[in-house]
Order: sequence, then structure tokens, then C-alpha cells
Amino acid sequence: MKSILEPAKRIPVFGTYDVVVCGGGPAGIGSAIAAARNGAKTLLIEQAGALGGMSTLGEVPSFCPFGKDKKPAITGIGLEVVKRLKKAKGLGITTDTVPWVVKDPEKLKVIYDEMLAESGAETLLFTFVAGTIKSGNKVRCVLIENKSGRQAVFGKIFIDATGDADVAAAAGAAFSKGDKRGIMQAASLCYRSVGTDKEKYYKFARKIDAQRKAKEWWASLVSKGRLARIKDTEYRGLGPQEVSPGMLGHNFGHVYFADGTNAKDLTRVMISGRKLAQSFTEYGRKHIPGMKNAKIAATGALPGIRETRRVKCEYELTLDDYLNARHFKDDIAVYDYTIDVHNATSKKKEAVKFDRDFDSMWLKKGQTYGICFRALLPKGLPNLLIAGRSIGSDRMMNGSVRVMPACFATGQAAGTAAALSARSNTVPGRLDIKLLRRKLESQGARLK
Ligand SMILES: Cc1cc2nc3c(=O)[nH]c(=O)nc-3n(C[C@H](O)[C@H](O)[C@H](O)COP(=O)(O)OP(=O)(O)OC[C@H]3O[C@@H](n4cnc5c(N)ncnc54)[C@H](O)[C@@H]3O)c2cc1C
Repeated sequence: MKSILEPAKRIPVFGTYDVVVCGGGPAGIGSAIAAARNGAKTLLIEQAGALGGMSTLGEVPSFCPFGKDKKPAITGIGLEVVKRLKKAKGLGITTDTVPWVVKDPEKLKVIYDEMLAESGAETLLFTFVAGTIKSGNKVRCVLIENKSGRQAVFGKIFIDATGDADVAAAAGAAFSKGDKRGIMQAASLCYRSVGTDKEKYYKFARKIDAQRKAKEWWASLVSKGRLARIKDTEYRGLGPQEVSPGMLGHNFGHVYFADGTNAKDLTRVMISGRKLAQSFTEYGRKHIPGMKNAKIAATGALPGIRETRRVKCEYELTLDDYLNARHFKDDIAVYDYTIDVHNATSKKKEAVKFDRDFDSMWLKKGQTYGICFRALLPKGLPNLLIAGRSIGSDRMMNGSVRVMPACFATGQAAGTAAALSARSNTVPGRLDIKLLRRKLESQGARLK
């Protein structure tokens, strides 16, 4: 039997809100805080047991730079998070020259909880958004599944911050996925370790890095079969980052051909990722200076999926927009992070291209590009906004807007627009863009 017809049944209504935010990563957090601060009755729905998405449960050790220049490009709620982390002594140590923000994921979880509670938004954890019911082209409610069963949540405006555009896809939005072949960037399972003597380790790592031998060193370990389960030569530098004293965060290893919207592939990413982390740690304990007592403290509770759906929106940001540092009348944020599109296969040619693009495509000093409001408006779904990784963008441009500072910013814009729309009984596409921009600027966002 290939399929079965599910009988219709009556389900309870969980509640009715002005703004319903689906997904509690950086984009969902920015969205829900902004919507609630602007007076909307707001619900944030998250499938996992903590907020933060890749920044906490995904164990990504650092936020990308909020700006490459001294003056941050991304400000607003994202930067507030960083300031609160600093106050809570939750910032780690970066070994990079550009200001990556290394962070303690456990402190970050608490800060998110506090900021949500202070904003007045309601948070609902352990709840998966499983579908939508529409009336005409408008989303009336989302269908949720959790320990309490299947329920409906009604709202005036919905924000899809699931990273994978699950809500938009369920509501019938058009989207693209992957490269021309339909293959997506490699996935990674990030993790944390303890027990490494970092002085000894970094002395060793710096020496190899200084001789520009890191890649060759890694490749030779792989070719000699020294890293039991690792066959891939991807290893971005030797520098795990110290997320809190004595604890290192690793953004490490590639798992190929995984579609993050396919549950079987997600399962494979978790299983392979855990093996890769153990394999490297076991090798390090025997052969790498400083790692004799290293052990893994935690692997990600969420798989590191870099790319899935990019929703067809009223505007799709392009690589050309990036290269020309283009700005728009309806910009809701500016940014300047490089093009970060990991290879989709382990072919050397693709890996070389990834490194070359990443290093060579930084905008010039003082330049930023604009993220326009239309890139948050899915075609044909007037009361839905997209925030975070799946906003309207081509694949290369997505390599810049997908990182966390930008996701906080598109979240803040979506949340603010949703609150303004709900209050005036309109839809985001009909909002007075000048009013939205004034509101965002008055609440800390940088738009120029
Ligand atoms: C391995 C890896 C390394 C990276 N390194 C960096 C880095 O160093 N710095 C940086 O800034 N960025 C980095 N990125 C990019 C960045 O982490 C993500 O692109 C960013 O977190 C996307 O934010 P988001 O809020 O859109 O989605 P996510 O962070 O993915 O959050 C989405 C949230 O929605 C929830 N969710 C998903 N579907 C549903 C559903 N149907 N119902 C309910 N909840 C749902 C998820 O559980 C999750 O909490 C990295 C990404 C990966 C994968």
C-alpha cells in the first residue's frame, strides 16, 4: 500500500493570536520578540525543547560577524542578544581576526527564554507545525502536533521561521531547492568537547596553519585511513573555538547528499555526524598534542542543515545584488557577510570553489548590501511572511543571508511588519513601507 486516506476528525483549537511564529531559531526569536514588543498577541512554536535552533541545539559555536567593519551592519535584536551574553559572561574566545561571536550555548538558551518572556510573547516548545488550513489564499490556522495531540492555532499573520519553509510549503508556496542538479550543500553535525589542553593544541594548530599545511595534513590523514570513519578532506582550519572556559565548540565535517526536508536523510546526518566527531576525537587523543584527555561533551541535538527551500518571493535577492552592494527603497536590513556556499559533493573542484568564493567575495570596506522587505513576502500567500534561511534569494546570495545575524534581522523585520499589519487589519504587502522602516530604525535596526 503506497498511501492511505486519513479520516477527517474534529480537533481542539489551541488559541487565537495576532501573530503566530513557527520555528524558534534566530529568525523566529527575532520575529516573536519584535511582534510582541510592537503590541501583538504573539505565539512562538518550536519543535525542540529549547529556543535557538542552530545557535543552541545545533551547537554552531559562533555567530558570524555582525559586520566586517568596525560599525556593525546588523544591529537591533541580534546585537541585543550579544550584549546580554557579554553581560552574562557568555561570550567565548575567537581565534579569528574578523569578529566572529563565539558563545556559550547554555547561557544563550536562558537569555532567549528571558528575552521572550520580557517581550510578552508566549513560547510553546515540543510542538511541531505539521500543516496549514487556508481560506482562499490566506492561511487561517496552522496545525500543530505535540504530547497534547493535534490542535489548530489561529492567527491574523503567520511567520515561517522554520529554516526549511515548512509552513510556506504546506500552504502551497513555490520554492527552489539546491543547485542545478537539485543537490544541497553538505550538512555537518557540530559538537562540543572538553579536556583539551588548548595551549598545546593551538601551538600545534598554529604551526601547521602558519605553514599553510593544514589541508595537506588533514588530507594525508584521510588518505592513510588514520581517521577511521572519515573519508572526506573537508576540514575548515584547525581552530575549534572556546565557547566557555575549557569547552571547545567544533563546526566540523561534511555529510553529503542530505535533503533536510527528508526524515531518512536527517537520520543519516545525525548518525554519520556522531561517528565523525568520535572518530576525530579518538585520533586526536592518540596523536594530536594537547588532546590526550579530550572527550565529547555534546553533539548537536539538531542536524546542521545549511540549505533547503528558498521560497519564491515578491523579490529574490541575487548574487548580482550582492556584488554590486545594491540597496532598495524597501530595505529592512543591511549586511556584508561573504558568500558562504559549502560544496554539495566531496569533489575537489567543488571544495576549492567554496574556499575561493568564501575568501575572495567579501565586499569592500564600508560597503553593505540591502535586504528588501519584498524578499520576505511569499508570492500568493498574503498573510504569511518568511524570515531566516529560506527568504527569497538565489542560491549564491543565500550563502550570505542564511547566517545568524541576518536571520535575527529578517526576523525582527517580519515580526514588526506582522504586528503593524495585525493592528491595522491589513496584510504585510499592503503596509506603508516608510512606516515600517521608521519603526525598525526607532527600535535599533540599521537600514543604511
Ligand atoms: C553546520 C552549520 C554551521 C553554520 N555555521 C554558522 C556560523 O558559524 N555562524 C552563523 O552565523 N551561521 C552559521 N550557520 C548558518 C546558520 O546557523 C543558519 O542558517 C541559521 O541558524 C538559520 O536560522 P533560522 O532561524 O532561519 O533557522 P534555524 O536556526 O534552523 O532554526 C529553525 C528552528 O525551527 C524549528 N523548526 C523547524 N521546523 C519546524 C516545524 N515544522 N515545526 C516547529 N519547529 C520547527 C527548528 O527546531 C529550529 O529551532 C551554520 C549552519 C550550519 C548548518
